[in-house]
Amino acid sequence: MKTKKHKDKILFTPGPLTTSQTVKQAMMRDLGSRDSEFIAIVQQIRRKLVELGQASPDEYTAVLMQGSGTFGLEAVVSSTVPPDGKMLIIINGAYGKRLAKIASVLKIDTITLEYPENTTPNLPEIEEMLNNDKEITNVSVVHCETTTGIINPIMEIGQHVAKSGATYFVDAMSSFGAVPLNLTECNIDYLVSSANKCIEGVPGFSFILCKLSSLKETAGYARSLSFDLLDQYLGFEKNGQFRFTPPTHTLVAFRQALEELEEEGGVNGRAERYRKNYETLVTGMRKMGFKEYLIPEHQGYIITSFLYPDDSNFSFEEFYESLNQKDYVIYPGKVSDANCFRIGNIGQIFEADIKALLATIRQTIAQMGVKLK
Ligand SMILES: *Cc1c(COP(=O)(O)O)cnc(C)c1O
Repeated sequence: MKTKKHKDKILFTPGPLTTSQTVKQAMMRDLGSRDSEFIAIVQQIRRKLVELGQASPDEYTAVLMQGSGTFGLEAVVSSTVPPDGKMLIIINGAYGKRLAKIASVLKIDTITLEYPENTTPNLPEIEEMLNNDKEITNVSVVHCETTTGIINPIMEIGQHVAKSGATYFVDAMSSFGAVPLNLTECNIDYLVSSANKCIEGVPGFSFILCKLSSLKETAGYARSLSFDLLDQYLGFEKNGQFRFTPPTHTLVAFRQALEELEEEGGVNGRAERYRKNYETLVTGMRKMGFKEYLIPEHQGYIITSFLYPDDSNFSFEEFYESLNQKDYVIYPGKVSDANCFRIGNIGQIFEADIKALLATIRQTIAQMGVKLK
C-alpha cells in the first residue's frame, strides 16, 4: 500500500518549524521509557547538548523537561531562585515580559530593567543596578528576543552578573544551535532552549543547560513538583530516566535532528545557512520597498520584523491569507509600538524557499494594489 505524500506548507515562523522528512520518519517508533535503547538515546542527547554549548561535562549538564519552551523557563525560575531571593529581569520584548510574568505568578520578588524593543539593554545601567542592589540573587535575559529578532549582548551582561556573584539565566530559545555560544565564557548558570527551534526537532520538550556547581546548591528551592529542576536532574543521574512520562517519539526525532545538525557542519554550518536565508530575505524585501523594524546592527539572522507598508491598501490579514493559500506561512508582529509582521529564517528553509517566498510576496503586494515606494 502506498501512502499519499503530503507536502506541508513552509513555516517562516518562530516555531514550530518545518522539519526534515527524516526527522519526522525517526518518530515512527514505540519505545518504552525504561527501554535501554531509549535511555541510551536520552544520555546521548544530554551529552550532545552540553557539547553544543562548548562546555565540559564536568562543569555543565543538560536537563530535559517535558513541555514547550516556556515549561523550561518556568522550571528555571521556579527552581533556582532561593526562597528569599530576588530576580533582576532585563526586558526588551515580549519574551522578557514572559519571564517577569512567570516570576510574578510564582510570587518571586523581582525588579526589572526595561528597554524599548528596538534597543539593546544598557550595560552601565545593569552594572550600576547590580552594584547598588545587593539583594539581587538571580539575573535573567533573553538572547535572541524573538519579538523583533534583536540579539542581546549576553556575554557582556554575563561579565557584570559574574562580578556581582548572582546566578545568570539566559533564555536562548530561538538562538541555541544556530548562534555560536560558549556557556563558560558567557558565565551562564542556566540556559533554556527547546526541541523545535534551531535544532529543528519536533515540539515536546525543552532543555536546560545547567552549571553543575550552581544546580547542586538549589536543594529546597523548587516551588513545584513537576518543574523541580534539581529533582529532574537527580532522576536522570540515578537511572537515566525521566521522573514522569517522557515524550519518547519527540526524543527519538531530536536525536536524528542532532545528527543532521552535525552533518550540516554543527552550529557554524547552520548559522551559515540561516544567515544566507536572512541576507536573501532582507535584500529582496528592501528591493520591493519593505523596511525592517530594527537597525541592521541589532538585527540577528533568526527572524526579522518588517514594518507594514504605509499604504491603506495593505491589510495584514489579507496579505497573510494570500501567502498562506500559496503554502507560505509568515507570522504576525509582536512589537508593542509599531505595526509589523515577522518572517523567520529558521527550520528546514533554504535559499530557494526564500526566493520563492519573495516572488510570492511581490505578486501578492501587486494584487492588493499596495505601493511601497
Ligand atoms: C519560542 C520562544 C519561547 C516560548 O517557547 P514555547 O515553546 O512557545 O513555550 C520563549 N522565549 C523565546 C525567546 C522564544 O523564541
